[in-house]
Amino acid sequence: MRQLPVLDLPMPPAAALQPARRPSAPTPELVEYVTDDVVMPRFHIWTLGCQMNRSDSEEMAGALVAAGCSEAEGMATADLIVIDTCAIRESAEQKVIGRMGVLGRAKEADPSLRVVLTGCSVRDGDQGALKRRYPAVDLFLRPDQQTELVARLGLAGATTADRLPHARATAVAAGAVRRQDPISAWLPIIYGCDKTCTYCIVPLSRGPERSRPYDDVLAEARSLAELGYQEVTLLGQNVNSYGHDLPRDARFEGVRGGRRLGRSLDLDGRPDFATLLRGIDGHRDADGHPRIPRLRFVTSHPWDLTDQLIAAMAECPSVCEHLHLPIQSGDDAVLRRMGRQYTVSAYVELVDRLRAAVPEMSVTTDVIVGFSGETDAAFQRTLDLLSSVRYEKVFAAAFSVRPGTPAARLPDDVPPAIKRERLNALLALQEGIGQAVHQQQVGRVFEVLVEGMRRTAPGGHVEPVQQLSGRDRQHRLVHLDGPVELIGQRVPVLIERAGPYALVGHLTA
Ligand code: SF4
Repeated sequence: MRQLPVLDLPMPPAAALQPARRPSAPTPELVEYVTDDVVMPRFHIWTLGCQMNRSDSEEMAGALVAAGCSEAEGMATADLIVIDTCAIRESAEQKVIGRMGVLGRAKEADPSLRVVLTGCSVRDGDQGALKRRYPAVDLFLRPDQQTELVARLGLAGATTADRLPHARATAVAAGAVRRQDPISAWLPIIYGCDKTCTYCIVPLSRGPERSRPYDDVLAEARSLAELGYQEVTLLGQNVNSYGHDLPRDARFEGVRGGRRLGRSLDLDGRPDFATLLRGIDGHRDADGHPRIPRLRFVTSHPWDLTDQLIAAMAECPSVCEHLHLPIQSGDDAVLRRMGRQYTVSAYVELVDRLRAAVPEMSVTTDVIVGFSGETDAAFQRTLDLLSSVRYEKVFAAAFSVRPGTPAARLPDDVPPAIKRERLNALLALQEGIGQAVHQQQVGRVFEVLVEGMRRTAPGGHVEPVQQLSGRDRQHRLVHLDGPVELIGQRVPVLIERAGPYALVGHLTA
């Protein structure tokens, strides 16, 4: 096994190094051509958190494979473990901290094992604290340092990886992004975040916004179309602010970036997110159909949701009728303390405009309960908001203080028991709303992209069933009976039953 001389790490003790595997003796005339045999490490990437992390992990896996490494079946058989962390909630970090003991013992048993920790838990200037929190880790990489992974492990010199430039576009062109899913692909368009939501660690861990060049994104989208991907999800912490940091380009002189909320940016001469959507959607086949049939994006900040974007969503046939638009709270005072930069009424007006422009639009959201200063009345306003907006789905979590964020200086004054109570109340309310919203779809036909087999029946503990599952354009989960050959296809499904979290239907003409 090739040892990993992580550049800023001491090498493991010599006795622990396993001898490199040697080939069987070469014939005498070939001796001079034989190089030292090197067995590259088997790696395992443990990914937590959001789609951005999953996309980053695909890129790191691709770089490791390009360097000659192979993927292990799991953590237990890996020589190199990469942990792509999430810091949005304390529980996600605790999950990783909880593994430190096991990893420490594994390293005692095999001193050549290397552990790399990356993702949002790694921020500048806290290496000592990181080492205390994650003692089994050999190398910490900030998200913007992930492209250094192969080089920092000392693997680049052994193979072609050192010639692999770190730009994503080149990595994609070199086939060095190891996509996990053959049907749906992630496509990052902007890194970092310029917002200042007081509870959020992302601006600290991922830095300011950096948009990928317009032509690079289009080229990657085209290559995904060539590979037959049915669905592409554009990724960014805030995709809506795409483009404002790119250099001026005469092609985009007419682009106006007027926002509904907050200050407007002068985008004149730069592409905005709406222009990008139109550019990808404009890649058509001979019959005029979008080469990528389904285009999605996450996440959107309401501040940057422009009229231009709403128009693009309405006019581009590939853009799915679904928007994930985090509200976080239904109370203006809480939103102000969260630094969210909009009021509840401005948000609701946006949703109304969206639904008027795209009648089939489904809207999902994020909510944090128990944020600093959230009173019973403020929480009730969040419940009222859910009842009036009627989201398809709500991702809710109890507030947990993230060290280093502005909210860490606010009193965490909602007791844990009240946070739990509010979370349960909110989820119970949303379950009823989800059921009612889904019930309205019974008897209708939706296009479902079949993604795979569902192996457990509702309730999870009864007899497993073999049933296909997929998503409609509104991102609703749909179960249906049918042959496995349908996986990867878009098929019409007549909805027969509805639950709060999924629909059930059958294939129709
Ligand atoms: S928009 Fe707010 S919540 Fe989202 S990543 Fe940026 S700072 Fe965090």
